[in-house]
Amino acid sequence: MKAARIFGSNDIRIVEVPTPVPGPGEVLCRVVCAGVCGTDHAIYTGEFSFVKNGSIKFPMTPGHEWSGTVAEIGPGVTRFEPDQRVVGDTMVSCGKCYDCLIGQYGNCKAMRAVGTIATWDGAYAEYILMPERHLFHLADEISFVNGAFVEPAATALYSVVLGDVKIGDTVLVLGSGPIGLLAAKLAKLCGASKVAVVGRKEFKLQKALELGVDAAIDTNQMPLEEAVKEVFKDWGVDCVIEASGSTALFKQAVGLVNQGGVVSVVAFYEQKVPDFDIDEFVFGGVKIRGVAGSLGMYKPVLRLMEAGMLDAGPLVTGRYGFDDIPAIMAGMSERNATRIKEIVEMKTASV
Ligand SMILES: [Zn+2]
Ligand SMILES: [Zn+2]
Repeated sequence: MKAARIFGSNDIRIVEVPTPVPGPGEVLCRVVCAGVCGTDHAIYTGEFSFVKNGSIKFPMTPGHEWSGTVAEIGPGVTRFEPDQRVVGDTMVSCGKCYDCLIGQYGNCKAMRAVGTIATWDGAYAEYILMPERHLFHLADEISFVNGAFVEPAATALYSVVLGDVKIGDTVLVLGSGPIGLLAAKLAKLCGASKVAVVGRKEFKLQKALELGVDAAIDTNQMPLEEAVKEVFKDWGVDCVIEASGSTALFKQAVGLVNQGGVVSVVAFYEQKVPDFDIDEFVFGGVKIRGVAGSLGMYKPVLRLMEAGMLDAGPLVTGRYGFDDIPAIMAGMSERNATRIKEIVEMKTASV
């Protein structure tokens, strides 16, 4: 099969590799759509801290946001049949340890991540292998393009859930990338009375409004604190979702949230936070939550998509073919102002 593999910094090539053979409990899936993530690019450039600390070793196949169909099932697989539409988890547990055996896959200490840390080969390939326990049915109502958004949407939903967002709450989302925009939309679906997205790129902030978010704050136009007062008035902000990856914004978030509020952090920083005001954090009774992954969130996201309540289609800013992957990676930074989510279509039919 063809796979786009990273061999070293800034070196991604489409090569021929053996098509995996599904072992017991495994399913071989044909990839139909794969989403391009900033993480893929950070691995490609070699700048990602997980490359530097050796958690990601080259060569490897990236791609952790995907949808596809079942090509072949291994012995003992009972929930899937060939040609069924599917999406896969980003994490692959060992399946053998105590936690795995009692179904607590999230606690597995031998976890590998699809297309990233301790790499389980990812979806920038014609086929991807998945253990049955990490595979989900994709309903006919959900397009393959939306299927490729299940993973980022699940991560975004986890940030909303860990942010304790309840009906009537006010939510400020820092960052207008795919995770920020999806988190804002999902906070609205969770019943937030007012949600604002903060960014600096007009095009992305416009998308937030298209998704039904109440306000878009452009920090090129107005200082953040002032804008937050104008939008939320005396109610203030119950939950800040920090999806920008800026340590400056993270520090500011702790001061912006209401007394006893939550700062839900769903970004990588690749650095320490200098001069963090710990007293502000303590006196504010602020809860800071780290959002790693998307544990348990596929089911609600799949249900929302199936019900037509969550459509990530407006976030697609480019559709490409498999052979374009090296060019997508090489030119990614240049498209930052207008890039939200790019989709690679492995085959052009019926996506
Ligand atoms: Zn991603
Ligand atoms: Zn395990």
